[in-house]
Amino acid sequence: MRRIVTGLLLLVVAVGCHAPDAPHTGAGRFDVFVLGIAQDGGLPHVGCSKGCCRSARKAGRRLYPACLGIHDTETGKLVLVEATPRIEPQLSRLHELSGRARSRQPVDAVLLTHAHIGHYLGLAQFGREVAGTKGLPVHVTPRFAGFLRTHGPWKQLVALDQIRPTTFALREVFSPIPGLFVTAIPVPHRDEFSDTVAFKIRGPQGTVVFVPDIDAWDRAPGLLEELIDGVDVAWLDATFYDGSELPGRDLSEIPHPPMVMTMERLAESARKRPGRFRFIHLNHTNPVLHDAALRKALERRGFRVAQPGERVRI
Ligand SMILES: [Zn+2]
Ligand SMILES: [Zn+2]
Ligand SMILES: [Zn+2]
Repeated sequence: MRRIVTGLLLLVVAVGCHAPDAPHTGAGRFDVFVLGIAQDGGLPHVGCSKGCCRSARKAGRRLYPACLGIHDTETGKLVLVEATPRIEPQLSRLHELSGRARSRQPVDAVLLTHAHIGHYLGLAQFGREVAGTKGLPVHVTPRFAGFLRTHGPWKQLVALDQIRPTTFALREVFSPIPGLFVTAIPVPHRDEFSDTVAFKIRGPQGTVVFVPDIDAWDRAPGLLEELIDGVDVAWLDATFYDGSELPGRDLSEIPHPPMVMTMERLAESARKRPGRFRFIHLNHTNPVLHDAALRKALERRGFRVAQPGERVRI
């Protein structure tokens, strides 16, 4: 009997989690999938003829911009977090991973962090030239909604009710689909067309946070602590490794927290809970994308680099 119970337990663990160190196993209602891990330009990167992209082109290696997909395993509803320029393969991957084939309404809601190209240009694919979605809720800040309503080509999608800008208030919980609770936390970033947020996403069995772009962890006191508070898995901005990717620039001038500094700040928590902190939004030049030994070294400290297709159940 004991052997059967152990076997069942192992089965539950195996079914419930393919991401290494995922905190939740068989329980939970929502699957959160990673659909992209790169910075806005992806890999290979337009305009780069350095080794990083030359070798990627030669090998056919492609990494898409940072993006999550959420699947409600009870109702089948799908949510896309970021509409990147590579939205088609990312939606296809979400449909494949969730087992939900969909046509003209590929998801039920979209969440957007900010109006930089790697995070929202994919919205164009919902317009009349391509999918022609109907009333698709796109959850954004009031400032971002104003931008979409007043600038082409986005305002045409709004006028034709293909997308429906739906505003959330900062730090107030909202539900893009029933049972899923999201809080947008404002973060410092280059805010030309919109402000920028991180999303804390809570299901009945866990909480994750998605912070793809941030200028600095401590621009506001206690911000990093607020972002990771109560979170089982945090996907964190890892645009640059240590700044050596930008020769001649002082570390303090780099407009993203370098991974080495993030790891220093989170060292103890990562050691106690390996797999809690996962790096995302990696620039094509980031050595972690190209150096397996470097990646292994950070894994030994309890950190992870997000992997396309990884799943966390919440
Ligand atoms: Zn970005
Ligand atoms: Zn490159
Ligand atoms: Zn950005």
